Amino acid sequence: MTYYFCILIGTAMDNLINIQKNPSPSTSSLPPLDVTPLQIVRPSDDFNNYTYGVGPSTAPKKQGRGRPKGSKNLRTPVKKLKTEDPKNRKVLSPRDFDSGITEAERETGNQEIVELVLKRFDAVRRRFCQLNLQRDILTTANVNCRNMGVQTNIRRRIGLVPGVQVGDIFYYWGEMCLVGLHKQTVGGIDYMTADDGAVEPLATSVVTSRQYDDETEDLECLIYSGYGGADKNGLPRDQTMDRGNLALDTSRRIGNDVRVIRGRGDPNDDTRKVYIYDGLFIVSETYFVIGKSGRKEFKFKMVRKPNQPNSGYANWKLAEELRTHDPRQGFILQDLSFGKEDLRVPLVNDVDEDDKKIPEEFEYITSQDHSRMMLDLNIDPQELGCQNCEDQPCFHQICMCRQRKSGELPYHNSILVCRKPLIYECGESCLCPNDCKNRLVQNGLKLHMEVFKTKNCGWGLRSWDPIRAGTFICEFTGVRKTKDEVQENDNFLFDSARFYMRFKWNYEPELVCEDVWESVPEVFNLTTQVLISAKEKGNVARFMNHSCKPNVFWQPIEYDTYVRIGLFAMKHIPPMTELTYDYGVSSVERIGEDENIYTGNKICLCGSVNCRGSFS
Ligand SMILES: [Zn+2]
Ligand SMILES: [Zn+2]
Ligand SMILES: [Zn+2]
Repeated sequence: MTYYFCILIGTAMDNLINIQKNPSPSTSSLPPLDVTPLQIVRPSDDFNNYTYGVGPSTAPKKQGRGRPKGSKNLRTPVKKLKTEDPKNRKVLSPRDFDSGITEAERETGNQEIVELVLKRFDAVRRRFCQLNLQRDILTTANVNCRNMGVQTNIRRRIGLVPGVQVGDIFYYWGEMCLVGLHKQTVGGIDYMTADDGAVEPLATSVVTSRQYDDETEDLECLIYSGYGGADKNGLPRDQTMDRGNLALDTSRRIGNDVRVIRGRGDPNDDTRKVYIYDGLFIVSETYFVIGKSGRKEFKFKMVRKPNQPNSGYANWKLAEELRTHDPRQGFILQDLSFGKEDLRVPLVNDVDEDDKKIPEEFEYITSQDHSRMMLDLNIDPQELGCQNCEDQPCFHQICMCRQRKSGELPYHNSILVCRKPLIYECGESCLCPNDCKNRLVQNGLKLHMEVFKTKNCGWGLRSWDPIRAGTFICEFTGVRKTKDEVQENDNFLFDSARFYMRFKWNYEPELVCEDVWESVPEVFNLTTQVLISAKEKGNVARFMNHSCKPNVFWQPIEYDTYVRIGLFAMKHIPPMTELTYDYGVSSVERIGEDENIYTGNKICLCGSVNCRGSFS
């Protein structure tokens, strides 16, 4: 049996996966497993895709673009630069690569294309980090995406950028370039020139990245500092009214919209920045001051246009306040975990502040309760783990745990690099220290979470911290159950045997200059059906709602001989955004040769364009 993977494609990237009830032989494309899979989840052999909006059951058949992973393309000599310089991962030309993004979509994007570009770029970046590419990881990832057509909104434009929403966050400047929000690769002021068809230079966007740009800390207005002020030798000099400065002043005169992106320190890592898109502003004033260096500096006062969502900088500031200040008024409970988590998990209802009802009682547990379960693996626990890693953090190749994962650690800087059939973390029988890079899920929740009342989906979960794609959010904890033990009306059940929307998250080998048949399979592979009920016992994950367009996905993780379910960020998630994952659906009905109806037991209110209508 061959595993096929569709390249992520524009509007038709999701597909429902089949769950085979019969044992299947493992394939060469899977990493070696210690057990014979009894149940394999795999994509359907045909790689038809379904269109959003129409729903999986009624969509017309579409020919998947790209070729199935694992098949050789005879026209492409894939072994490229590898033999010359293994560190050089630059892809020079598209060759036969089909980015799945049409020329029109590259010209003008939409939300889906924007998300797709960001997802693929980050997958490449994570892979380069994992490979420990010594230099230019970000630049190489960026150049490869651009060279292979993975970008959108390629022309400079005034005003809104199709597909980019107020509040979207970016962890790297180049991400903004790839989606057309800010095309200037270095400068903070981006502007149209004669090359872009502009009669005079007009500012399109500014990025505040220096502390003094934002000194007013005002949500509605901002003082932006002009560029320049140092000569070639770094000595101070007067700023001049040219280029970006001239463009901003022209925009003041003309009155065109200028996008503002606010650069802020990442609360989870003070060495880096997060860029928050804050919407459209108007330049209202130009003036100059004599700066600290005694030289002339331009200042541009920018005012935010009314009637824009407050999901941008306003949300960021709110989250910052929540993180750093005393408990906010209106919390119903200060800590839902009652001290079991390192960080408090408050409960809040800001939909109806008079409503102080709390969720039905449950016991808060920080890791899975499998006291009544059999082991997931029939292996002597003594044989597991790395016995040769005493006091070493499993960096080196002799680590047994690392060898089980074909030599690569699944995480880089606590970020998941790729989805995998199953991830093995170091466990009790390993001799490595607790801060080993191969222990992440077992270390528990590290984000500031809040359980809050949603408008129409009961309680929900959100984070005060910005979350980078691939970040571990939390484990789905609860009581491991057997099929017979599961109650019929359990609304807090995780069931690995449901049908899940298929999606691609891992890097594409072509974009990192690797052979296509080396791609990492991302469908999970479990020896047993995993059933976890968070009804009586659980953690914050029990409050995470379902969505047909989720921002979180689950990944099976094994350590200490039990399988756990880890929840990871699918994309960058701004603070205060509801976290959701796909609950899957429990029944499938064949209505034709290749058409199925997938239905769950509950009505879905996720409100996304491609809502399936039901779940679980
Ligand atoms: Zn080890
Ligand atoms: Zn280990
Ligand atoms: Zn270890």
